[in-house]
Amino acid sequence: MWDLSAELTATKRAGLYRQTRPLAMTAGMLGERYGRKLQVFCSNDYLGLAHDPRLAAAMADAAREHGVGSGAAHLITGHRHLHEELETALAQFLGRERALVFSTGYMANLGTVGALIGPDDAVFQDALNHASLLDAGWLCRGSSTRYRHSDLEHLNALLNESTARRRLVITDGVFSMDGDIAPLPALADLAARHNAWLMVDDAHGIGVLDAGRGSVAAAGLDEHQVPVLMGTLGKAFGSFGAFIAGRDELIETLVQKARTYVFTTAMPPALAAASLASLKIIKTERWRFDHLHALITRFRQGAQQLDLPLLPSATPIQPLLIGDSKQALEISQALEQAGFLVTAIRPPTVPKGTARLRVTLSAAHSMTQVDALLGALETLASVWPMMKKSA
Ligand SMILES: *Cc1c(COP(=O)(O)O)cnc(C)c1O
Repeated sequence: MWDLSAELTATKRAGLYRQTRPLAMTAGMLGERYGRKLQVFCSNDYLGLAHDPRLAAAMADAAREHGVGSGAAHLITGHRHLHEELETALAQFLGRERALVFSTGYMANLGTVGALIGPDDAVFQDALNHASLLDAGWLCRGSSTRYRHSDLEHLNALLNESTARRRLVITDGVFSMDGDIAPLPALADLAARHNAWLMVDDAHGIGVLDAGRGSVAAAGLDEHQVPVLMGTLGKAFGSFGAFIAGRDELIETLVQKARTYVFTTAMPPALAAASLASLKIIKTERWRFDHLHALITRFRQGAQQLDLPLLPSATPIQPLLIGDSKQALEISQALEQAGFLVTAIRPPTVPKGTARLRVTLSAAHSMTQVDALLGALETLASVWPMMKKSA
């Protein structure tokens, strides 16, 4: 017999058991779980748009006018003017010829790598890339190799050895669990020298860096240097879905061959309407970026003064490295009791021995909230020695 319960018990013993617990969320990163009021510091809603009434109104209006479900795949009857409008607006915002909307980022990655890479081809990707990219590498019919995190020499050696027909280098723009930014100009140079393509998954950069244009724009790279740009709409956009942006021939290839585009029901048009409303806000409300960066600076200064094990990150992802999974979980639980929600991120999401508290900041936070979090961390650090960097 399959002994699933023994496996589950072992997972629990290792401090790696995961559970979903419903959380009520309201504007201002305020949550409530099991009757306890919480300040939420682990959402990817970096600009605080998920609760913006303008997004909700756009979504509700579009649902009433166009229906809730799209009813079919894009190539059948699911494709609407709202999808086209969103694709055109995203392409224009990012300075790309075209964009193509996918239902989720996970699907955009699987479908895109699968469409571009065949049995004679090879994928080279950063060891810390998002799970969806690692899976995309597994599922495509080409070979998939991982290079050490942001290690250009290692990547260069792997590319030198490769005899593959097409070579695709893939990196997260902003690494989702560390918050650091990939060395994009150097990666683009290296890829060009090897006649390889570079794909950047900018799930955590789009809407955050360079007034929302993301890590690729911040690095000053165009669609020739980064032929495949992926962004998500469920994080800083506060909506849902994802897109690939690039040249016309790339987008046409995906329409023909990306299985997660062709063989799935089109994103509800109301979600496209919400994302359009979000893009409008991103283009006009500069204070969100300014405030977010002020919060990041405040948190980093405070955490450094407290000697917390902060990782080097200039983005809203500000992890505190704890190491041991059980201890990370216990500290996260203690924070929750103190009224702060900060998820413990454990293997297999991050490498073994690098469990962490992944603090994320949002323009929806106030300075007072960040100071309150620092206060709670100070109290806990006096009890937990592993919360000191020098420990
Ligand atoms: C969240 C995320 C994805 C997946 O996007 P979804 O729209 O949530 O499926 C892909 N890549 C990275 C780096 C992510 O953080």
